[in-house]
Amino acid sequence: MKFHNLIWSLLISFLFVGSILAQKPVTTLITNANIFDGKSEQLITGQSVLVEGNLIKKIAPSIKAPKGAEVIDAKGATLTPGFIDAHTHLAWNLGVSEHFYAPLDYQYALNLAEAENTLMRGFTTIRDVGGQVVGTKRAIDEGYFPGPRIYSSCAAIGMTTGHGDFRAPSVAPRMMGGPSETEAETAGLVMFADGVPEVLTASRMQFRKGAHFLKLFVGGAVSGMYDPLDIAEYSMEELKAAVGEAERWNTYVAVHTYTDGSTRMAIEAGVKSLEHCNLLEEETVKLAAEKDVFISAQAALFMNPAPPSFTPAQVERQQMAKEGLDKLMKACKKYNAKVLFGTDMVASMESKKAQVTEFTLRKDWFTNAQILKQATSGNAEALELSGPRNPYPGKLGVIEEGAFADILLIKGNPLEKLEVLLEPEKNLLVIMKDGKVFKNIIK
Ligand SMILES: [Zn+2]
Repeated sequence: MKFHNLIWSLLISFLFVGSILAQKPVTTLITNANIFDGKSEQLITGQSVLVEGNLIKKIAPSIKAPKGAEVIDAKGATLTPGFIDAHTHLAWNLGVSEHFYAPLDYQYALNLAEAENTLMRGFTTIRDVGGQVVGTKRAIDEGYFPGPRIYSSCAAIGMTTGHGDFRAPSVAPRMMGGPSETEAETAGLVMFADGVPEVLTASRMQFRKGAHFLKLFVGGAVSGMYDPLDIAEYSMEELKAAVGEAERWNTYVAVHTYTDGSTRMAIEAGVKSLEHCNLLEEETVKLAAEKDVFISAQAALFMNPAPPSFTPAQVERQQMAKEGLDKLMKACKKYNAKVLFGTDMVASMESKKAQVTEFTLRKDWFTNAQILKQATSGNAEALELSGPRNPYPGKLGVIEEGAFADILLIKGNPLEKLEVLLEPEKNLLVIMKDGKVFKNIIK
């Protein structure tokens, strides 16, 4: 009996000590790495990086491993900041019409699966510009599921018959007896609002749901049902109402826009991030650059084949947008506009695999270093526009002491050969987010 008691008390004290050890922040030392720090054009060779908890504690050619630290010998691999995608729709994993009918728990399950896929492609942070993802974000942040950090606009706000209106033509708008906001919302991708009071209410509703910034559709769309690319959606009064509301929440508005008309209105209203922009004239790009407004462009979305669910009209508009891309990117370079790295992959989890092609398709206009900077420190700059609504205040997109430990170890050197990023399964050796290792195939 006494012997049994002794065994039990030993076991309990082991468990107690074990649980204390488990709560200690994890310390990881990465040795023998060549660093792309998110800003410099050159690798900083032969470095060690010490990660304590969720932060980068120290960077030096040689660091003595603290007691109990996990040591990862990078064996000369390239160490980069985790990538940031400035334009995603994590919740848009089906064809548009399927979203009306698929059970919501199925859709949310896909969100979680796609969140893990996104992280495994090296994206440790996404800026989600339309979709119900704040619950997904919470489950990821709480450690229940692997996935990236998420900045979310919640639903994108759009007008009746504008981009995002995928209702049948016979469905009456709400103010004429149509369905409620929630029924028409297509699983949180969009909320319809017409006129200043509704735009204000829709803006406030997104903040109630936990939005970190607002997203509005202010022009025609490639994937829209009823809106040709050339039109401007929303009046100046409606636009200014949303921008004013965002400013009172100390954050900003991003808008979907292709043409000069809608883009110039958006800049004048005080919008800070212009999504797409494919059909802009040089003068408008120049204006955006002068006003420090981000141009959130995508290449892969337009240069890859259209998703199979696209109608002939949508395919034709994709072609128009693709043709504008060359002029846009050249003007961005000429005026040194702040170009974000975004992908806007939608409609199926299969098509979302093309997210990584954004790296190589940008080579038509930018150097490898410029592209890698866009996907790291450049995008991080835009995330800071959320101000006090920023869910992860701290340094992202850089390898610096004190920055969040979002780190990739890559086989090969993407500064010389971006193509290594096309095979993340093989070439992303280590994926660390917030100091935790989610993948390690180096040993
Ligand atoms: Zn989009």
